[in-house]
Amino acid sequence: MIYLDYQATTPVAPEAIEAMRPWNEENFANPHSPSRWGREADAAIEVARKQVDKVIGLKGGNVAFTGTATEALNWALKVTVEKAPNGRNRIITVATEHAAVLDTCTWLAERGIDLTILPVQRDGILDLELLYRELDERVLLVAVMLVNNEIGVLQPIDAIAEMAHKVGALILCDAVQALGRCEIAEGPDLVAVSAHKIHGPKGVGALWMKKGSEPAPFNHGGGQEQGLRSGTLSPALCVGFGTAAKIACDRATRDFDHVLKLWSIATRALGPDWIINGSTRHRYFGNLNIRRDGVDGARLIADCRDIAFSLGSACASGSGRPSHILKALGLDYRQARSSIRLGFGRYTTRDELLDACERIAAAAHAQEKLPA
Ligand code: PLP
Repeated sequence: MIYLDYQATTPVAPEAIEAMRPWNEENFANPHSPSRWGREADAAIEVARKQVDKVIGLKGGNVAFTGTATEALNWALKVTVEKAPNGRNRIITVATEHAAVLDTCTWLAERGIDLTILPVQRDGILDLELLYRELDERVLLVAVMLVNNEIGVLQPIDAIAEMAHKVGALILCDAVQALGRCEIAEGPDLVAVSAHKIHGPKGVGALWMKKGSEPAPFNHGGGQEQGLRSGTLSPALCVGFGTAAKIACDRATRDFDHVLKLWSIATRALGPDWIINGSTRHRYFGNLNIRRDGVDGARLIADCRDIAFSLGSACASGSGRPSHILKALGLDYRQARSSIRLGFGRYTTRDELLDACERIAAAAHAQEKLPA
């Protein structure tokens, strides 16, 4: 199988698998227990915390481990609302956010939060003038992702944060697809990340919190994670995340250059019949979302069974719903249906990508000959 679905999840780095092993085998102690084993496990988690903090790269904050980025985003949104000062009852977000943000915001709106969902321009980027007009002293939080999961487009998070801060609002950044791939500029107060998008294990994420912007506790119990997120941590998962984070830092330039080369190989191999969805300049280049007139993306996936790629977000793919992100770009149903997403990265080779692109292009060409 050729794996081209790096936005859904990434292959686990061998170094992370190896680093996790002892924490499931020899030392299975509870990291919150006072025994020597427990303290060793706790120390390993603290090393991992520093490694995750380093790959996020922002100053003056703390990392709290969570189960997933979805949990981190729910926490940041719901509990910031709970702690909101009087008079701050508005959340502003963007139409191309992940469901973990949009659905949580909608849930909050049903409970009285004044929610504004801003549209994006045709290239997927937020119009800052529009944001400027919406910002006022009632805004509690602005939630904007850095790299989009379906189309790879980058939002100008530093400028957005500066504008939000001028009216005293907090900024929450979903950096799940950006972590280890693009620099996270200073500005966000809360940042959600996930291990499995950076060659770490599934089932562990984190919320980075700028000092002073910590939301209230997510849950109640043993008081772990600075009293903010109770529950026994998995040393193996945290160490896997930390190791993946360290490798992402060490290999940042190499990975970036590799992805850039893969992008030009893929776009060249596919040829001019495909249109790229989203900005071709302000983007992460390991995400290639493309469409071609007359193609049925779902049928293309079935036709190319031994190539793993997708129609868009893994969470929405099973629902049969057209992608809300492509819709937000102004694509009609037919255009969205003819779109596919190819995601590649560290372990993708030039030859397999070339092979996959040639086969996808041939299958698309064959579809054109079929009766509609
Ligand atoms: N945000 C973005 C942009 C994502 O791509 C994803 C996962 O697909 C998430 C949030 C949710 O991450 P997790 O799988 O850790 O819950």
